[in-house]
This record gives sequence, structure tokens and C-alpha cells, in this order.
Amino acid sequence: MIDAAAIKAAFAGFTGEKMLRAWRNRSPVTCSYWTFRARTLLGAAASLTDVWKLAAALYAACSEFTWTDGSFRADTLAMAAWVRIAEHTAAYILNPPERALSRGEYELRRKARREQAVSNIYAHYVCFRCRKAWAPAAVRNRKHCPRVTPESRPCPDCGHALIGLGLAFEPPKQSNCRAWRQLEAKARAGNRFLKP
Ligand SMILES: [Zn+2]
Repeated sequence: MIDAAAIKAAFAGFTGEKMLRAWRNRSPVTCSYWTFRARTLLGAAASLTDVWKLAAALYAACSEFTWTDGSFRADTLAMAAWVRIAEHTAAYILNPPERALSRGEYELRRKARREQAVSNIYAHYVCFRCRKAWAPAAVRNRKHCPRVTPESRPCPDCGHALIGLGLAFEPPKQSNCRAWRQLEAKARAGNRFLKP
């Protein structure tokens, strides 16, 4: 995508300090030296989004060639290193690693991961009609049932009463009707899936 020699030329004489600290702090690389370099490489016609993407990818790729004091010194790198940087940059544009994310993006990704983990753990409010398990937060947050008491949680999809089956409950696949029927029989008989 971008020629290694072009990257080498764009970074001539550049020394980036505190590469590792910037990485740890998840500082945005969107309004920095990296953006200027990316703009140089892409030209004035490129969109801001593309420039930022390239800046983040360049930052991530170059951070793999930092010295132990955390500095990146462009003039110390051989051509082979620039070829690697060019390859990694191309890959990181498509699939940015964590250190190529701005702080905002990183926080968003982390939040989504945490919510996913939490909802997996707590998804034990079960609707046997829809064959779905819901986390308490998902039930509460649905628009048409904003205030739900623990006693009366309706299914966000169909409105039928949910049954809280306990934290150790693991929902079967939705298509596995037989497993769901067996579960329903157990639940109606009063079985719960409490943590041991
Ligand atoms: Zn339902």
C-alpha cells in the first residue's frame, strides 16, 4: 500500500520520545506528528479519516521498533526495518491493534467487552417462549419496560413473564428446542441453577 522508501523518507530525522508511555496512556495519535506524517504520505486530497487511520497504524508499527528507553529514532533503522514497518502498517490499517486505538476508541471497546462479559454472567432471566436468556440490565433497559421489579420482569421480546433461574444457568442454543423443553419442565418443577 505505502512504499517502505516513502515512509523512510517521510520520517527522516524523526525522533519520537516516550513511545511506550504514549502507548500506556492510550494517548490519541490523531493530532500529532504522526498525523502530519500520514498527511505527507497520503497527500492533501486524502480524507481526514484515512489520515487518522494511517497515523494510528504508523504509530503502532513504529512502536515495535523503539529503543528500551521508549524512543523511536528513525535514522537508526535499516531499510529492512522500514520494509517491516510498511508491512505492519498496511496490516494495522485493516485491523488496528489495541495500541493503535485512540483513548476514546479504547475505552469504548473495553466497555463493550465488559458489558458482554457481565451480561453473559448474569443472563439467567429466561423466556421459554422465545428460548432466550436475559441479563437483568437488558431487561431493565428496554424501552417499553423501563421500570421492572424483580418480581415482574417481562421478556423484552414477547412480554411474557421471565423466570430467574440462577447464576449458574447456561442457556442452550436457541434452536435446540428439546433442551429448552427439558429445562422448562425442570424450571416449572422448581429447579434453580444456583452457584455451588
Ligand atoms: Zn419472550
